[in-house]
Amino acid sequence: MANYDVIIIGSGPGGYVSAIRCAQLGLKTACVEGRDTLGGTCLNVGCIPSKALLHASHMLHEAEHNFAAMGLKGKSPSVDWKQMLTYKADTIGQNTKGIEFLFKKNKVDWLKGWASIPEAGKVKVGDEVHEAKNIIIASGSEPASLPGVEVDEKIVVTSTGALELNKIPKKLVVIGAGVIGLELGSVYSRLGSEVTVVEFMDAVTPGMDAEVQRTFQKLLTKQGLTFVMGAAVQKTETAKGKAKVHYKLRKDDSEHVLEADAVLVATGRKPFTDGLGLDALGLEISKRGQIKVGADWQTNIKGIYAIGDVIDGPMLAHKAEDEGMAAAEQIAGKHGHVNYSVIPGVIYTHPEVANVGETEETLKDAGRAYKVGKFSFMGNGRAKANFAGDGFVKILADKDSDRILGAHIVGPAAGDLIHEICVAMEFGASAEDLAMTCHAHPTYSEAVREAALACGSGAIHA
Ligand code: FAD
Repeated sequence: MANYDVIIIGSGPGGYVSAIRCAQLGLKTACVEGRDTLGGTCLNVGCIPSKALLHASHMLHEAEHNFAAMGLKGKSPSVDWKQMLTYKADTIGQNTKGIEFLFKKNKVDWLKGWASIPEAGKVKVGDEVHEAKNIIIASGSEPASLPGVEVDEKIVVTSTGALELNKIPKKLVVIGAGVIGLELGSVYSRLGSEVTVVEFMDAVTPGMDAEVQRTFQKLLTKQGLTFVMGAAVQKTETAKGKAKVHYKLRKDDSEHVLEADAVLVATGRKPFTDGLGLDALGLEISKRGQIKVGADWQTNIKGIYAIGDVIDGPMLAHKAEDEGMAAAEQIAGKHGHVNYSVIPGVIYTHPEVANVGETEETLKDAGRAYKVGKFSFMGNGRAKANFAGDGFVKILADKDSDRILGAHIVGPAAGDLIHEICVAMEFGASAEDLAMTCHAHPTYSEAVREAALACGSGAIHA
């Protein structure tokens, strides 16, 4: 048993970042993790492994589609799936070991095992009970289930199983056209699978700007993915290593069946709080299973905080990290803060899709007068040279003040470009501020400036 200023439960991006920040602020800190490795969903079965597979499959796509046009001739590479999985595992290993190193460097104790909270101020790990002046719950999330769909992680898989399939399926059905489904769907499509995405709603990536949704779906369709929209999956069946997906079209209730070698269930994630003993503690939880917190990330029980996927808000690693740092600062008597209106979202397909702030739809709903500055990557010299002319940058600015309210990018490096706009928004910048900033030529970021110019007297290369 040991005494700590802070014990953090969970070592995902919320938990490990919070632990490091607590230690940096002079607090005696431990982090409990039940998995064999640190880093949580993100490093082990989420962001990092999916990006490794996206990168490898994108390289193949470039070789197959663009190399010859650039004068790079020869046989295109064939896929060694086992080696690709080894590359993915090595990438995970480097990252999880990196967190171990950072824990040692910052003197954060890793308490190995599954934690429960027998009472405020105490954390039980295995047979040992540790004392903690403060506890931060960062226990993350798990895949949500779908009635009638039984996951076996072999044929009918969640994202975790989809990162580990025995072989590349000939036919893959993805249930859910959200970020995870489309990222992994495009991995397998590039690797040769016939991918059909079945989505309940009428548009992909619910909540995103409608113009982006339409463009994105068109681009993925051009790449070979098939979409069945407005379809409610009824059940899945498996036999002899194959699966059947039964769905009903919402528009006419007609029933259909798709056959597949693998089915990816990507219908969202839910907070994970199993085994923590929160009911007995009397900790307040919402109807959606999220731990309720106040503006300082403290729960209804003094000294117990919660951050990341286990609380409300977008289930994103960087949102969890920001909350982790802010909660640490609150505990240390400082003023931790997260600006929830400037949290970027990125889809790491090719092209990438990135967004921050308001959409045209949310602005219309709020009755706010706005203007749109849009610029196509077809007008960007660097994008044309790199076969990356698909997509656009769209900036939404207040009609009167010109203040930037949101931005949406479909295109090359969108996930990096969006941050220029995030910084501008943090500083309350106008579109004109961006437009007056000199941007190096030839870069993709010139498209951001052109979109900002389009909010005013016009883009140059449009
Ligand atoms: P988690 O990362 O889920 O970590 C929680 C940890 O707590 C786990 O390791 C768990 O074992 C541990 N734990 C839980 N209960 C206990 C207990 N009682 N005792 C001890 N340990 C416990 N987000 C992005 O921003 N960008 C992306 O590109 C991205 N890609 C993703 C791809 C996939 C396939 C998936 C599934 C998710 C992706 N996400 C992405 C989401 C991202 O992974 C999560 O938002 C993020 O991991 C949440 O961090 P967290 O710290 O809240 O929890």
